[in-house]
Amino acid sequence: MNKTRRVRVPGIEFEIGSGTLAIVAGPCSIESREQLFSTGRFLKENLVHGFRGGVFKMRTHPDSFQGFGLETLKILKEFKQELGLPIFTEITDVRSISDMAEVVDVFQVGSRSMYNYPLLSELGRVGKPILMKRAFSATFDEWMGACAYIEKEGNQQIILCERGVRSFEPRLRNTLDLGMVALIKAETDYPIFVDPSHAAGRRDLVIPLALAAQAVGADGLLVECHPNPDEALSDGPQSLNLDQLRSLVSSLRIKM
Ligand code: PEP
Ligand code: MN
Repeated sequence: MNKTRRVRVPGIEFEIGSGTLAIVAGPCSIESREQLFSTGRFLKENLVHGFRGGVFKMRTHPDSFQGFGLETLKILKEFKQELGLPIFTEITDVRSISDMAEVVDVFQVGSRSMYNYPLLSELGRVGKPILMKRAFSATFDEWMGACAYIEKEGNQQIILCERGVRSFEPRLRNTLDLGMVALIKAETDYPIFVDPSHAAGRRDLVIPLALAAQAVGADGLLVECHPNPDEALSDGPQSLNLDQLRSLVSSLRIKM
């Protein structure tokens, strides 16, 4: 077993990979000031370590909601000043890196962008941690190759994230590959998060998958939640409501 590399995220008191389970939660997309602040206050009260929320969304269809983009960054800055939660958000385009770097603490590479090598090389030149999601069809070697693009430019601050792969089973949005999490722990020194939300695609399965991820040794969880999931502009069916998020956090803490 390799010793896990440590990744320091500003605002999280322990290093990712040091043995404490990091919990990062928030909506799929940042939709309004009200939604952002009400979720953030709740996360803070429930001792969640970081906030996730999409600014730019990579949607399967161009007519689907694409995120509110750069206009969200201003309120995100105020949010960070008020609540101090570290911000994890997806970067979809090299042209947004410098604007986003003013507020983002961890750049998420989405499943659809894992093969965007020019984006990865550019992220290698940014001095910020990267959350590297596995593409939904990526092999171990392809995932490692994507990380190598970032490292080649000098950035070793990489956290992996398993979010489910496409399998023959249509009833689940994706199939959470916990075997891969165990393999990553056995063969590499990367810390690894699990995203049970995009794996399950339905909120009733998120808590059992999150507990399974903790059991297999994940270093963190990336979980979608929303104050009113039925009205979410993206990924409502898989978003926990805030009471469910509180139950998840307390179940995880009992086992820590
Ligand atoms: C997300 O985290 O909201 C997201 C779009 O994830 P993925 O890239 O895993 O589909
Ligand atoms: Mn989502």
